[in-house]
Amino acid sequence: MSTSTPSVSPLPDAAAALLESVPTGLWIDGQSCPASDGATFDVLNPATGDVLATVANASVDDAARALDSAEAVADEWAATPPRTRGEILRSAFEAITAKRDDYALLMTLEMGKTLAESQGEVTYGAEFLRWFSEEAVRINGRVTTAPSGNGQIIVTKEPVGICLAVTPWNFPLAMGTRKIGPALAAGCTMVVKPSEDTPLTTMLLIKDLTDAGVPAGVLSVLPTLRAPEVVAAVMADRRLRKVSFTGSTQVGRILLGQASDNILKSSMELGGNAPFIVFDDADLDAAVDGAMAAKMRNGGEACTSANRILVQNSVREEFTKRLTERMAATTVGPGWETTTDLGPIINDRQRSRLAALVDNAVAKGASVHTGGRSLPGDGFYYAATVIDDIPAGSDILTEEIFGPIAAIQGFDTEDEAITIANDTDYGLASYFYSTTLDRVQRVSRRLEAGLVGVNRGVISDPAAPFGGVKASGLGSEGGSEGIQEYLNTKYVALPPS
Ligand code: NAD
Repeated sequence: MSTSTPSVSPLPDAAAALLESVPTGLWIDGQSCPASDGATFDVLNPATGDVLATVANASVDDAARALDSAEAVADEWAATPPRTRGEILRSAFEAITAKRDDYALLMTLEMGKTLAESQGEVTYGAEFLRWFSEEAVRINGRVTTAPSGNGQIIVTKEPVGICLAVTPWNFPLAMGTRKIGPALAAGCTMVVKPSEDTPLTTMLLIKDLTDAGVPAGVLSVLPTLRAPEVVAAVMADRRLRKVSFTGSTQVGRILLGQASDNILKSSMELGGNAPFIVFDDADLDAAVDGAMAAKMRNGGEACTSANRILVQNSVREEFTKRLTERMAATTVGPGWETTTDLGPIINDRQRSRLAALVDNAVAKGASVHTGGRSLPGDGFYYAATVIDDIPAGSDILTEEIFGPIAAIQGFDTEDEAITIANDTDYGLASYFYSTTLDRVQRVSRRLEAGLVGVNRGVISDPAAPFGGVKASGLGSEGGSEGIQEYLNTKYVALPPS
């Protein structure tokens, strides 16, 4: 039952040797090194609250060194044959895939998700490197004769230059590879600032990318507890040409403000408030499966997570009953236990935020069908929760939940569902279940979102463009669109030939 106390179990045998193999320094100029002032910080295991590793804490001086090394090799990397760049990324894909168990365990240890979720992320995250290894050799321009006949128009694509990637904690591998893959494929150099909650996966990744052939300086990693000052210093440096950020809309706004000084090309993958709509013509079994996937993937800690589950009132009672049974049967515990369905929340701050969202809704009159509370123990556990009858205006409907809480709302008509679904500042993922073709076409068109899942609860795919509208962000990652974010378009005018 999700309401029981999670079992306390020792770390898996493989953990000690794995943690020993992860570099704990900054990665600058092709090697691991301490912070300029020797500062460090601890990375915690959210399943136990214990320290997993102590890593270097990058300073503003370290950021300048990372930019120096990126600048020193920028021209050479841009001139490296696309096939060579692609082959390096392909080798890294093979290396990560071969070390699947290591990456999966490392992510489970520092982020908390179950090993099955982590294994899935290794497949997903590594695939960005393979996908962009194939895109590296398909960077095309075009040549046309000017309509007047008075010259030739040549359009070329060039790498944008030095990039900064700032990544979140929820997908420690994939949020890195989704930026590193296209940047390196395009011929850009990159400085990566991983989340302070989960830097270890990026540190293992940089070692494997280096072993796969990424030259010194092309990629740097700056774990730091001093993100505001370190990132601001990089953003203010005139050598930087692009920022790619994944994280909250709140921090995205800060970075967009900073980006305006140097007019940086900016990609922003920000928060979401995904509607998951179940119409009365849906296959209800499939809709419950889809809701479980869309809600509980990554323990609900995904920007694509179903935030508001909108169910047509004629099927709401039945749907809610079935979803509640599934959520109540969720086993909570350390991610490395094979019996665990749901691991801990990333940290105590996030867990308190979840509790406050539920408390706020309950105080306004919502009813909790299962869960609705933190679980005792040293780790940061929160029960799988279903909450219904939520009054309009409750925080849980307007804020991104980012946790294992299914918030159900009823509706009567298709128009009402669309109005509720679009009544949010966000526009990342959206989902709906219907078996009627014209409704599928209509609702897909009317949802204000960058991603629409039709009769499916998992939509992310490295071969598809991923990105939001409204306060969910700018630009696309993945697909053939993803590499364009790292390329400038140049027009060369030639006289008639
Ligand atoms: P966050 O915004 O708190 O942090 C993201 C990154 O920004 C971290 O590396 C952090 O250290 C850094 N950061 C924080 N404050 C900063 C500042 N003032 N200046 C510069 N950098 C700063 O987000 P999080 O809690 O790590 O991740 C959760 C959020 O990420 C959610 O809102 C989620 O929706 C979003 N997310 C979006 C996508 C997407 O593709 N749209 C994917 C995953 C997560």
